[in-house]
Parts: sequence; C-alpha cells; structure tokens
Amino acid sequence: MQQQEQDAILADSAEGSQEKKDALEIAELARESYSLPSFGGQLFMGNFVSSMVTPFPEQSDEDKKIGDEYIKTLEHFLLENLDPEEVDRTREIPKVVIDGLVKMGAFALKVPKEYGGLGFSQTNYNRIMQCVASYCGGTAVLLSAHQSIGVPQPLKMFGTEAQKKKFYPRFRTGSISAFALTEPDVGSDPAQMSCEAKLSDDGTHYILNGEKLWCTNGTVADIIVVMAKTAPKMVKGKERKQISAFILEMNTPGVEVLHRCEFMGIGGIYNGVLKFTNVKIPKENLLWDEGRGLALALATINVGRLTLPAASTAAAKQCLTIARKWGKERVQWGLPIGLHEAGEEKIAYIASTTFAMEAVAKLTSAWQDKGDFDIRIEAAMAKMFCTEALWTITDMTMQLRGGRGYEKASSLKARGEPGYPVERMMRDCRINRILEGSTEIMKLFLAREAMDPHLKVAGALLNPKSSASDKAKAFGKVAKFYSWWLPKQYVSNLFTSRYKEMGELSKYFSFIESNSHRLARELFGKMARYQQKLERKQMILGRLIEIGTDLFVMSATCAYAHHRVEKNPEDKSPIELADYFCRLAKRRIEANFKALTDNEDHAADRVAECALDKRFLWLEEGVIPMD
Ligand SMILES: Cc1cc2nc3c(=O)[nH]c(=O)nc-3n(C[C@H](O)[C@H](O)[C@H](O)COP(=O)(O)OP(=O)(O)OC[C@H]3O[C@@H](n4cnc5c(N)ncnc54)[C@H](O)[C@@H]3O)c2cc1C
Repeated sequence: MQQQEQDAILADSAEGSQEKKDALEIAELARESYSLPSFGGQLFMGNFVSSMVTPFPEQSDEDKKIGDEYIKTLEHFLLENLDPEEVDRTREIPKVVIDGLVKMGAFALKVPKEYGGLGFSQTNYNRIMQCVASYCGGTAVLLSAHQSIGVPQPLKMFGTEAQKKKFYPRFRTGSISAFALTEPDVGSDPAQMSCEAKLSDDGTHYILNGEKLWCTNGTVADIIVVMAKTAPKMVKGKERKQISAFILEMNTPGVEVLHRCEFMGIGGIYNGVLKFTNVKIPKENLLWDEGRGLALALATINVGRLTLPAASTAAAKQCLTIARKWGKERVQWGLPIGLHEAGEEKIAYIASTTFAMEAVAKLTSAWQDKGDFDIRIEAAMAKMFCTEALWTITDMTMQLRGGRGYEKASSLKARGEPGYPVERMMRDCRINRILEGSTEIMKLFLAREAMDPHLKVAGALLNPKSSASDKAKAFGKVAKFYSWWLPKQYVSNLFTSRYKEMGELSKYFSFIESNSHRLARELFGKMARYQQKLERKQMILGRLIEIGTDLFVMSATCAYAHHRVEKNPEDKSPIELADYFCRLAKRRIEANFKALTDNEDHAADRVAECALDKRFLWLEEGVIPMD
C-alpha cells in the first residue's frame, strides 16, 4: 500500500474530533522514509537483527582524534572561565564564555566545512555536548538548542544552496539560533498551532502573526526557525491544513520578546515568549516547501533528540562518581553506606544503567553518522530510556547523599565540604522527560511505528470505512502475509540462535530474540483484539513499548560490553555491568508481559474519571488554596 493511502486510512478511521483527525493526518504526512531498516522497528515484528549491533560501531581513530583535541581545549576553557553555580544563581552565562565559545566554533560544530563550520560528526558533536552537559546545564542548552534543533539542523536537512550560503557562515561568527514550535495552546500536538503566515499579495514575502511559548535561546537569538500555518490546500477534494517553516531574523520589525521564562532548573536557559505582529518574512526564507513545516520540525527533532541521551549519560556519569566516593567514605552504623544492601542496590543500578545509557547514546550517534539508517525509533527509545533512567539515577544519588544531596553545592563548599551539585543536577534534568517529545508522546509515536507494518498489510481490513471490495482485496494480502509470518513467531522460538560469539552474554541475545517474537505476537494479538480501540489503550501500548525499548537497550548494552572486552580482554568489568543491567531489564520485561493481561487498568480509568469529575473534592480540603 502506498504511504498516502495508508495515511488516509488512518486519518479516516481515527476516532474522535476533527482536530484529532487533522493532527493524525498531518503527523502521518510528516513521516519520513529511509532506505535502510530500523533495528527497533524490526524488533516489534519479531526480527532481532543482531548484525546491526555487532560488531558495535566504533568511531574511527581519525574522527576520534578530532573530537579528543577539541574536547581537551573546551574542557580547559570551561574550567578556567565558567562557574556553573554562578550561572544557576544569576541565570546568566558570562559574555566572556559565550565569546570564547564563538571563537572555538562551538556554534558551528555540525556546520559543514565548506560553509565555514567545523563539520564534526554526530558522534563528536554528542561527545562535546556530553562534556559541556557534565559541567553546566545552561551552557549545554545554549549550544544544543542552537544546533540540535535551531537553524543549523533544518538548514542542513532541508535548506537550499542559497540559504546555506547565506546563513551557515554566520554561525561561525557568533550568530545564535532557536527553534519555535510550541504555543500557549499547543505543546505535544503542534498540528493545532495558530501562528499564521500569509503570503503577501505581491507574493514576495509572508506576513507572520501569533505567539510562541518557551522558545529556548529565544531571548538571545538573532535568527530562529519558526513554524506557522500557511494557506490550506485542497487534496482529493478535502481542505488540508498546511504548516510551513521559515528562517526569521529576530531584528525584523514586529518581533517582540515578551517575557524571559524562569524554570525549576537550568538557571542559564535563555527561554522566552515571542510575539509576532505583521512580521515580514522574505519568501526566500521559506524552508523546504510550503506545507512541509511540520515534517521539517519532526525530522529536525528526530535528529535533535540524539543529544539528550548523550547529555543524560554525562549527568549519570557524574552521579556514579558521587555515589562511588560517598558510598565508600560515609560510614553509618559501622559500615560505609554503599555497603549496606540498600546502598548496594542503588549503586549497582546507577553503574549498570549508566553503562547502558552510554551504549545507546554511542550506538544511535554512530547510526546517524552512517547515514540513511531509519533511526527515528531508536532515537525516540534512546531519548525516553536515558531521560527516564537519569531521573531515577539522580534521585538515587540524592538518597545516597542524604541531607547533603538536598543542600546546594555553594552551601556545602562554604562549610568546607565537597560541592557535589546533586540538587542542581536533579532540577536541571527533570525537564528532559518533557521536552523534545515527552515520555508519553514517545510511547505514542513508538506505538504508531510498531503497528505500521501491520497497518501496511491489514489497514484496509481494520478500517470500518473501507468498502466491501477493498476489504476483499485486502483479505487476500492479509492471508498471504500472516500465513507465514504468524507461525514464524511461534516456531522460531524453538530454533533460537545460540550467539556463541557473545560468550557470557549469549544468553541475553537468545532472550532478546525469543522475546522479540513474543512481543510481535502480543502486539499482533492486541491489534486483532482491540482494532481501532487499541489507540486509546495507552497503558497496554505503553507496556509493549517499554518491552521493545528494554530489548533494544539490552541489545546495545551487550554489544557494547562485548566490544569493550574484545578490545581490552584484561578488563571484564563491562560484562559485569551488562549482565546486571540485563538481569534487571529481564525482570521489567517479564513484569510488563504479565501486566498485559493481569493489571488494574480499568480501575485506574475509573478512579481518574472520578477525580476529574470532582468526586473526590472532599480529599482536597484542609489546605490553603494555591490559586
Ligand atoms: C525548559 C523548556 C524548554 C523548551 N524549549 C522549547 C523550544 O526550544 N522550542 C519549542 O518549540 N518548545 C520548547 N519547549 C516546549 C516543550 O517542547 C513542550 O513543553 C512539550 O512539547 C510538551 O508540551 P506542553 O508542555 O504543552 O505539554 P502538553 O502537551 O500540554 O502535555 C501535558 C502532559 O500531557 C501529556 N500528554 C499530552 N498529550 C497526550 C496524549 N495524547 N496522550 C497521553 N499523554 C499526553 C504529556 O506527555 C504531558 O505529560 C520547552 C519547554 C520547556 C519547559
């Protein structure tokens, strides 16, 4: 089935409001196609393609040297010039730091060399982001919002030669950019945006009106990429919403920064509310084509999302250092706290999960550098896994540090103790579970991608609006596909490969293979049972996605451990970390499979509906109202 037909089926069959149908239709049109397959996508279909993770892709010596040299200079510069506590307190990144970063080309890291940039690989870019994020969240966000999602990234993917020549060189000389998608009324569902760009009568420019919320770098940027509605188009007799993307110079008359937002963490973030009143954008600043703005935004975020796993790994590594030192040094009840079983459990989780995070961050960057791999699924899984894991890790680190975890680094230092900034790290990392696609939205996205191969085959049968002849046609196709695919998901389990080359970790590769079949059977079973209603079954879908994600992370972790030991056979410690991570992941996977049928989902629905219906207002009594 053609993608367009499939999109139409999904949109036609979507239950609910017109808004929801619009959102789905636009999101479907925004899907990209790649020539190489997705590792994660295949897991959901019962295919564990171990050859995609082994041998674990390694950065070339030449590329590594470039990254090493840059990071050495950058680290020295940051330690000399930047105090992250001061940034957190004053909410300002010193000018000397920004100037120094400009001089080092830190705003043109991924800009190709032919346009004056440093032309770094995604792997080196992520290593640099890891280095900055390990030290100062605000500075990492400044650099990352600028080039993970700001103008350089969509320009690279969709810019014309003229646009590249015009804008790229500016990033080498200090231009800072931003990405403006969110609005006060639209966050996770940007298809419903109200910012509007109307083509002028003479067709030379667009006139932009509206407001954007929470635009990171928006208060300091001189150039941004902004998404706005343009005139709707008629497609097959139906009016279709159009969203387009533009490069906007912030000094254009009519652009206002209304407010600089202040958050729980990332004190140095320059994030603002932007207002546009009759702002003229030259037509040549349109990125890609009219109507492709949401596709551009989603494609940009797909790649941009790779930075968060690297940044999260950086913070996890810092937590590991703190947990290791404090776990040994702090003695209570006659034993270092790290040796009480409650401490051991935390330290084991922190160490093994940090290793798993590093594995997925490295693997996804390497895939991106290879090009043309469909990494949307793995980028979403990596983002979701790493940001969720980091939250648990910072919480465990705070618990290990006890009262000192809750105390500010400056206060600790002032009374002569090491200034471990656990509370700042915790405040800084919480947003990662919300932005660039919240965990809930990642699950919806992943569920849609997991179901995609089945919809391609059986979409017409599942669509209540399909005609009898379409259904009959689809039936033949469905029978042909499932007559071999479904038995394979049962039979293949009997012949699971042994993966001898993986040594002590071979059992986990066998587990991944057999459980990807099980996952495929369960997903298919749920689709057959719930049909259209499965879309609403977020708790069931969520478990399936968590299983798929754990299988992906186990694959990356085992492959990475095996690779490290192959390179340095003396040190078997990576195997220990991978083994413990996989033991925990297996337990989560088993629990999630069990909960597919043995759960309290109905009870949760009921209680939540009662709460929203104000049936528990009595429970809210006895406190001072907040509003
Ligand atoms: C510090 C910060 C920096 C940011 N930087 C930028 C930026 O540079 N550019 C930009 O454009 N935006 C930016 N954002 C916006 C950010 O991307 C949004 O906050 C995010 O997309 C979520 O939107 P929302 O906050 O409106 O939440 P909502 O969409 O209102 O969602 C609220 C909650 O409901 C859940 N939810 C929503 N829909 C569903 C659903 N269908 N099913 C289940 N659960 C659902 C969400 O997961 C979330 O938990 C930033 C936000 C912050 C706080």
